[in-house]
Amino acid sequence: MKKLLFLTVFVCCLVLSAGEKFPKYIILFIGDGMASPQRMVAEEFAVKSGHGKLAMNHLPFHATTRTASANSLVTDSAAAGTAIACGEKTENHRIGVGPDGKVRLESVAEYARKKGWKVGIVSTMVINHATPASFYGHRPARSQYYDLGLDLIDSGFDYFAGGGFNQKNKGDKETRPDLYELARKKGYKILMPGQKKEFLALKPGCGKVLYAASPGYMPAALDTDADGTTLAEMTVKGLELLKNPKGFFFMVEGGTIDVYGHANDAAGNLREVLALDEAVRAALKFAEKYPDETLIVTTGDHETGGMSMGFAGSGYAMFMERLKFQKMTAKKYDKLIAEARKKDPKFSFEDSKKLLTENFGFKFSGDVKKDPMVLDKKQIKALEDGFKNNKPGNAARMVMSQKAGIGWTSGAHTGLPVLTTAQGAGAENFVGFIDNTDIARKLKALIR
Ligand SMILES: [Zn+2]
Repeated sequence: MKKLLFLTVFVCCLVLSAGEKFPKYIILFIGDGMASPQRMVAEEFAVKSGHGKLAMNHLPFHATTRTASANSLVTDSAAAGTAIACGEKTENHRIGVGPDGKVRLESVAEYARKKGWKVGIVSTMVINHATPASFYGHRPARSQYYDLGLDLIDSGFDYFAGGGFNQKNKGDKETRPDLYELARKKGYKILMPGQKKEFLALKPGCGKVLYAASPGYMPAALDTDADGTTLAEMTVKGLELLKNPKGFFFMVEGGTIDVYGHANDAAGNLREVLALDEAVRAALKFAEKYPDETLIVTTGDHETGGMSMGFAGSGYAMFMERLKFQKMTAKKYDKLIAEARKKDPKFSFEDSKKLLTENFGFKFSGDVKKDPMVLDKKQIKALEDGFKNNKPGNAARMVMSQKAGIGWTSGAHTGLPVLTTAQGAGAENFVGFIDNTDIARKLKALIR
């Protein structure tokens, strides 16, 4: 009997220790402004256009995640970033500090670094924007871009890539010099826009890196030409440079999903989600090599735009596949029209019809029953009004959303919960109904 008891305890201990895995490589993906609607619209589009399902939607562990900040049910990116990074609620606009704007919070990235891990931060947004800054910055206001840039340089993190610094409040040369110069002095290898080749050629052991892939936030995935750097490329390079025997924490943000959510530009928005998913796929390939040591977590910081699948005019139907006709973001279309008007002051709505057909697939004649991209009178009027009011892209993206059956309720954030998914060592912690602060808390507990 005693023997049996001993054996049972022994087996139980074995099972427990075998079940408790601690990751050495943590990769956290954040879609800014990405909740379930954004993930589902992108997934349906991807499936219908032959790209297959979204990898991030099909990780084995799922948690519905509450996003409210300390002072509002509708969070901004600063409070949400701070919650995900540091595990504490703060007020909207604060970065890495408590609601009073003073108490300094420790991010999971800083905690990992203390433990001897390497740290990487990537975003398609400017690199000192709210979400990435929440992992290294400590300021009462997210608008303190220059100060957050100083925090980035002081962090000593190993790898930064994405949109270059916002140096809005730089000041004079003596008191507040150029952030890139300061970073160089602190030992960072700086690569600027146009240096993609040099960036891709970086090898492990090259030291601390800061790659500004574009001067401001990165061009839209929908607009990027072949020379543009992708989020997946920055993720692959990060995994290569950060890999080391002690471990690493790597945060990758699809920061510009939010930009096209605010703009209610469905095609622009979903292409950003797909670009993030390509980055997740790159991480999954890495995890195939180190399955017992890698943890991948994907989440969003809040929903943007009040996106819905179906709207008042579409009834019980959606046509996501029609979004493939949109060849550029509404923002880029605005620029295109502005340029045409500059060249020819007489450039008219009639003249722009050809561009609307080329870039949005809209047809100005034909039978809508035979061709769904044929416009009705109301839609043509909306496009014409948009042209007259100097908001041609705005009108085009609105008609496009109607054609696809996508509704929008807001130009701002909403309080919808987001989805957190996970795979790998410790992934079983990310289940049920959790708070965004739980993400940092759970990650910190997994770092040994
Ligand atoms: Zn955000």
